[in-house]
Amino acid sequence: MAIASINPVTGEVLKTFEPLTDQELEYKLALADRAFATYKHSSFRDRAQWINQAADILESKKTEFGIIMTIEMGKTLKSAIAEIEKCANLCRFYAEHAPQFLADTPAITDASRTLIRYQPMGIILAVMPWNFPFWQVFRFAVPCLMAGNVGLLKHASNVPQCALAIAEIFHAAGVPEGAFQTLLIGADRVANLVADSRVKAATLTGSEPAGQSLAAIAGHHLKKVVLELGGSDPFIVLKSADLDLAVSTAVTARVMNNGQTCIAAKRFIVEEAIADRFIAKFVEKFKALKVGDPMQPETDVGPLATPQILNELDLQVKATVDLGAKVLVGGYRLKEKGNFYAPTILADIPLGAPPYQEEFFGPVASVFRVKNIDEAIALANSTSFGLGASFWSNDQQEIETAIEQIEAGAVFVNGMVKSDPRVPFGGIKRSGFGRELGLEGIREFVNIKTIWIK
Ligand code: NAP
Repeated sequence: MAIASINPVTGEVLKTFEPLTDQELEYKLALADRAFATYKHSSFRDRAQWINQAADILESKKTEFGIIMTIEMGKTLKSAIAEIEKCANLCRFYAEHAPQFLADTPAITDASRTLIRYQPMGIILAVMPWNFPFWQVFRFAVPCLMAGNVGLLKHASNVPQCALAIAEIFHAAGVPEGAFQTLLIGADRVANLVADSRVKAATLTGSEPAGQSLAAIAGHHLKKVVLELGGSDPFIVLKSADLDLAVSTAVTARVMNNGQTCIAAKRFIVEEAIADRFIAKFVEKFKALKVGDPMQPETDVGPLATPQILNELDLQVKATVDLGAKVLVGGYRLKEKGNFYAPTILADIPLGAPPYQEEFFGPVASVFRVKNIDEAIALANSTSFGLGASFWSNDQQEIETAIEQIEAGAVFVNGMVKSDPRVPFGGIKRSGFGRELGLEGIREFVNIKTIWIK
């Protein structure tokens, strides 16, 4: 894919970028390697100061950074600004808590003194997606830098201006030269980087094929990997739930970020007793969504990021309808210029149709009716994904059952799935492995060294 900013509202090519030459890439790798030799000795105090400074920069220019995201990938400007604020919070969280997360931990053994120390590993490569162009990178970069590692970012090829802006933020915040760099390269250059002995580990957020490819190479070279891949999160609503709150949350959980969120609710699994009422309210709210220019404050849903994503979504909907599903609202691409797709609800979905197994990366909700909690959980668990799950009920026994039995990296009860710096984030099954955020996230890329003193 060419490295370019293309406005998803107009299709206009705003700016193109030349990928790094092999020599330029080598220069950056060598710089990162040299930077680690000194950066690993920096104090938590200095690191926290740089990261807090990055938070200040984010906050002071949140609209400017938000606009870059909106013009490159189409998220609404209001959500882009909120994303910048979330990145700033993440910076402040790790600036405050990393020293405690990585402090020596004593243990009791047969030695006179035993402890666990968390030491940085070196250069960590991050391959990142375009859907949360700042958040995805910050949630990697901030714990990476606070732990004393250095980071190399290979961002998605359609958000190069975001990638460059992020590197500039860390530079302006005082992060030492070479400790965080953006590499403008295509996906075809990742394999060699992972193989390079100076790169110690890698993380990828993106699609299954990309994750498989990176993990295979990392496996060959015996390097640690964290993968955050796709999802088809269930949103289960049982009859004791607060229906109005469940419906309004369901809408947000499906269409946030124009429907292009890994943890978006994608399959709405509703108990038969309340299904008609849920669906009627859900359809009404979908009809009221305002689709349009993501720069306008009244817009709820902007364009999809690329024409390929639009085409793929359209094909998935058509295939589902051809198999006999009903379209309750939407079901078509919008005629005007740009990558717009109408907010869509599908129901009566025949077994084996795409929503049962595939991720729909756009504003398309699939509704399923079930008899009871057992059927709901069985359906929720029937995909190959296992990222998040939202469960709605006011019955304590049902809540306990759902928490215990749902196969996912996170279960949110009576709320929508979201990421939060204070708690770990990640999936199971084909949604990936390893964790970001929280204490667990910052400990993914460190040498957990056992120290035993007789
Ligand atoms: P993608 O095509 O896999 O791209 C993600 C990144 O991987 C980009 O930087 C891309 O570079 C690179 N890439 C693609 N193929 C590669 C390969 N064979 N080897 C190495 N790198 C490769 O994914 P996407 O379409 O941008 O993102 C959507 C997917 O990401 C969805 O499935 C979504 O659910 C998932 N996602 C998951 C999370 C999570 O936390 N679990 C968060 C957000 C998104 P180029 O752009 O240069 O191709």
